[in-house]
Amino acid sequence: MRLASNEPSGHAPIGEVDVAVVGGGLSGLATAARLQTSGRSTVVLEAHSFPGGCSGYFRRKGFAFDVGATTLVDFEPGGVGGEFLDSIGMSHPPGDLLPGYQAWLPDRIVTLHRDPNRWHPERLRSLGDSQAHRDFWALLDKLADAFWDASRKGISLPLRSPGHALAAARILPPQHWPLGRHLFSTMGDALRRHGLRDDKALVGLLSMLIEDTVHATVDDAPLINAALGITIRGAGLTRAHGGMSGFMQALTAHYEATGGRFARNCEVQAIRGGKGNFGLETTKGTFRADQVVAAIPISITARIAPEAVTKRLDRFIKRDADRMGGALVMFLGVPEAEVSDHEWTHHQVLVDYDQPLGLGNNMFISVSAAGDLASAPAGHRAVMISTHCDLDMWEQLERSQYQSLKSSISDRMAQIARRVYPRLATNPVVFEMATPRTFERFARRPNGAVGGVRQTLRNTNLFAVPHEIGVDGFHLVGDSTWPGLGTVACTLGSRIVAGNVLKSPATATRTAKAGVPA
Ligand SMILES: Cc1cc2nc3c(=O)[nH]c(=O)nc-3n(C[C@H](O)[C@H](O)[C@H](O)COP(=O)(O)OP(=O)(O)OC[C@H]3O[C@@H](n4cnc5c(N)ncnc54)[C@H](O)[C@@H]3O)c2cc1C
Repeated sequence: MRLASNEPSGHAPIGEVDVAVVGGGLSGLATAARLQTSGRSTVVLEAHSFPGGCSGYFRRKGFAFDVGATTLVDFEPGGVGGEFLDSIGMSHPPGDLLPGYQAWLPDRIVTLHRDPNRWHPERLRSLGDSQAHRDFWALLDKLADAFWDASRKGISLPLRSPGHALAAARILPPQHWPLGRHLFSTMGDALRRHGLRDDKALVGLLSMLIEDTVHATVDDAPLINAALGITIRGAGLTRAHGGMSGFMQALTAHYEATGGRFARNCEVQAIRGGKGNFGLETTKGTFRADQVVAAIPISITARIAPEAVTKRLDRFIKRDADRMGGALVMFLGVPEAEVSDHEWTHHQVLVDYDQPLGLGNNMFISVSAAGDLASAPAGHRAVMISTHCDLDMWEQLERSQYQSLKSSISDRMAQIARRVYPRLATNPVVFEMATPRTFERFARRPNGAVGGVRQTLRNTNLFAVPHEIGVDGFHLVGDSTWPGLGTVACTLGSRIVAGNVLKSPATATRTAKAGVPA
């Protein structure tokens, strides 16, 4: 049902700001924090009672669990996230930079070192040392170096005007321009060109890493995105103390200390009007804003935004309707002895090279660090285990069918995880699981779809959902827009969108009402 007309409603506003940001996930909070630091008055309107969305958290029996994301990517000094923290004047929250993690393939264990001097010999030792392997890795290294560098400099896609193309050409040094041709090939193409498409261990490892970062198979995944995705640990994976609870609370507190307003339990139901006079109707009342940033999945934006926005989003929503996926996440609060078998706190497990990924075949295990008392009580650890799933298997289930499916899959996931930690979940204090229904309810993800679209050559980069869709004063950010899913992508998006908002001078600097209801 369409909720919005193009006229602002007549209700007296309860808050007036330069920029209203819809959605208090990482994308929304990061964009708002940048704008607030740059002198614009902002409000973040969040439907849930906690910030974070898919990078959010919840507490149970003294444990803090990460709802989705467990690691911040490229948040070190000089990285995309590091630039963000510096630009808003926030000190780097305490946390652990992971030295890497272990990939448990069906027939071998590969240590994914962060340090390239350790990773380069490890990949040849564990996955093959032929000239083809060396040439293949050299290509991936070249692409990753060039495009991580471009990301850190704030490159923006898709190219929508000659000005955009010029800006991208300035960011990518001329010696890297020939790499642009790889925009048109997939990881599968690159593997075939090197005669490695049938190399089970190599393809198995790449498939896991690509599914988690590009949300696609090796044959569908755009090569450049895949090269970036499989090198995220080189860019740096940080787990904040207290996980996302530690990070998101610190970010929200910093944002509020700079004058921003984080309005909780404040679902936006309709957005009317246009630049200079948007009216956002929420469950708490109406806000007025000169500009709007929609930091929510585009299918929600299309439902609540002015008609001009909806019309422009329609073709993207139709195009990607069958390219959405879900996640299952187990939350375990366990005695320390159940996870004391390894010094590595993060692992990824593949059960079978020949079965499709998901439902336990490709699981990411994240364990809170020893001594991180913000994540778990003394003598205990918080464990999050995630795997992908299709959405349709969770639809139209009776309550008992839902519970029984959930319980059989959680038992299977615990069983698989015992390859890494043989005593895991034998005596848990907390044992819970999130399904697409959970993500729909608590993170407001339509149908529980997470992780943006499953990326292909036809829906990303040059064809991605842009941040600007041609409606003045209305901007999009978040993991359904370019460059896609993940904390690094969302943070890069926030930089680009904050820059776009700031191109328009504040028409009348408004002051957010101090008393936005909590
Ligand atoms: C299981 C899982 C594991 C992951 N692991 C990692 C990882 O380790 N590292 C990593 O970098 N990335 C990871 N990701 C990806 C990452 O979590 C997401 O890409 C990112 O958090 C998306 O942020 P967002 O702000 O774009 O969207 P969201 O997190 O979805 O935020 C949108 C917010 O908008 C709110 N909202 C929706 N509708 C309305 C409305 N009408 N009015 C007001 N508010 C509304 C929602 O409540 C939500 O808080 C993971 C994702 C999942 C699901």
